[in-house]
Amino acid sequence: MTGPILILGGTGEARALAARLVADDADVVSSLAGRVQNPRLPDGEVRIGGFGGIDGLVAWLREHRPAAVVDATHPFARQISANAVAATDAAGVPLLRLLRPAWVPRRDDRWTTVADIDEAAKAVGAAGAARVLLTTGRQDAGAFARLRSPWFLIRVVDPPTGPLPPRHEVLRSRGPYGLDDERELLRDNEIDVLVTKNSGGELTRAKLDAARELSVPVVMVARPAETASRIVATVDEAVAWLKSAGRSDAG
Ligand code: NAP
Repeated sequence: MTGPILILGGTGEARALAARLVADDADVVSSLAGRVQNPRLPDGEVRIGGFGGIDGLVAWLREHRPAAVVDATHPFARQISANAVAATDAAGVPLLRLLRPAWVPRRDDRWTTVADIDEAAKAVGAAGAARVLLTTGRQDAGAFARLRSPWFLIRVVDPPTGPLPPRHEVLRSRGPYGLDDERELLRDNEIDVLVTKNSGGELTRAKLDAARELSVPVVMVARPAETASRIVATVDEAVAWLKSAGRSDAG
């Protein structure tokens, strides 16, 4: 008898995958980091909190003997993805990375792509931006704290706890966001630079469409390198892999 499917989650895709597998009576455990105060919980069994590094994850895998691990974490959740590669390797458990495709610039987009969040802060400073919409998440807002002259509208799910730029307003909200609202947000706040990470997906891409329409430049933080070797882009592909490999009864 095979053990559960462990889904490393915290994304819409992870919730969608859990819902599909649970609907098909597969045995699923979803894991959340516990960062967000009121997370949207996936269907099925959920565990919350870190495992305790690679060793902790290896111990969990040895105890629960999952048939497979699906790493469906956010494209920028670098540490847990690296841990998943090392721990599944050590415990001999198959690993699948479910990774939504990155956004690519379209005609008339005005993107400056940068390697990481510190480079994004430098690009904002160099651009002489006056009013910045920052959508990189609360953990990354601190990188902009030394920028004294621009005003930042910092859009986050939960309030940031670290240092912030001196001139800012925090806007608490959770996507998905529509084009009309994003256009209004950029216009009403006279935003002249949008900063975002290349998260990909449809739920938060409307800001890019609004920025293109309004000719607002975008500082785009590129994704970290992927460490997994088996990668799929959609929930359908993940379900198909689980089924074809006989790791779940889901169809
Ligand atoms: P991270 O830097 O890659 O991971 C830091 C530590 O958090 C990991 O070493 C692990 O602790 C724990 N952790 C992360 N994801 C976990 C999970 N799904 N289940 C159990 N423990 C987990 O992660 P992060 O960037 O802070 O992201 C945390 C969570 O938020 C992820 O689940 C991710 O999918 C979600 N998220 C992240 C972003 C983003 O921009 N980074 C955006 C949206 C959602 P231990 O070493 O103790 O196991």
